[in-house]
Amino acid sequence: MEALFWTTAIVVAIGLGMGYPGWRLKRALAQPFPPAWLDILEHNIPIYRNMQPELQAQLQRLVQQFLFQKKFVGCEGLEVDDEMRVTIAGQACLLLLGRYTRVYRKLNTILVYPSAFLVPRNHADEAGIVHPARQELLGESWGDGRVVLSWDHVQRGAGDWTDGQNVVLHEFAHQLDSESGSNNGAPFLGHPGSYRNWSEVLSRDFNNLRHDAMFHRQSVLDHYGAVNPAEFFAVATETFFEKPWQMAERHAALYEQFQQYYRVDPRDWLAPPAPEPQFDEPEPPASYGTVYGQWR
Ligand SMILES: [Zn+2]
Repeated sequence: MEALFWTTAIVVAIGLGMGYPGWRLKRALAQPFPPAWLDILEHNIPIYRNMQPELQAQLQRLVQQFLFQKKFVGCEGLEVDDEMRVTIAGQACLLLLGRYTRVYRKLNTILVYPSAFLVPRNHADEAGIVHPARQELLGESWGDGRVVLSWDHVQRGAGDWTDGQNVVLHEFAHQLDSESGSNNGAPFLGHPGSYRNWSEVLSRDFNNLRHDAMFHRQSVLDHYGAVNPAEFFAVATETFFEKPWQMAERHAALYEQFQQYYRVDPRDWLAPPAPEPQFDEPEPPASYGTVYGQWR
């Protein structure tokens, strides 16, 4: 009888333990979206105001879940406040709209530095001798559940939603890429048949971008995407959300693939750009002057 009592007690305790996180999340999502957070979305993410009400509601719910589940850590004395948390979560969750998915299931912690941060990067010389060096980064994405961001560049990325540069979209695209098990520029696409088209279109545009970068030709996609397929996916994600009209015009097949994957059309939120002046001579590509952390 006593054994039965303890068995029942253990089963009930396990059941409650397993259900408890889900119950807490449900309770958190039942809370109304705080007006102060709404102000932050409206002021710091320019496209939010142009989104359809259903998508705004969906984004709010994703932000609530993101902020409930993920931990933020300030680095170099930075105190992380609601403005930082909501601005980062709001942009990260744009990549999850419109599809049934968990909210960055591998991600636990977002580390935020006040500005660009230095990381150790060994450098091998021509003789193969490795020298210790340090490199300045704006953001990094790790497969062990961490994203690192410079708050200064998060603000710059969100402040100009037409330059195709956004460190939050970039690093969280790497997180999506990693969920498929390898960091190769192909996130989890659902249907097995989708990978063939994805691979064909992205390989072709990746190779074209490598040529553009090699010959310093202007392109809609930042030349940093020519580093490898994982960086190409992250850079193309930035372009898709920030320069959708230009990407749809010059990379129609790529745009279509991204539209199918992200299940949104950012052209709905941004006016078409004014025609660009034609240059006789190729111009060097615009760049931050520093680089994102590469995937490891
Ligand atoms: Zn990257």
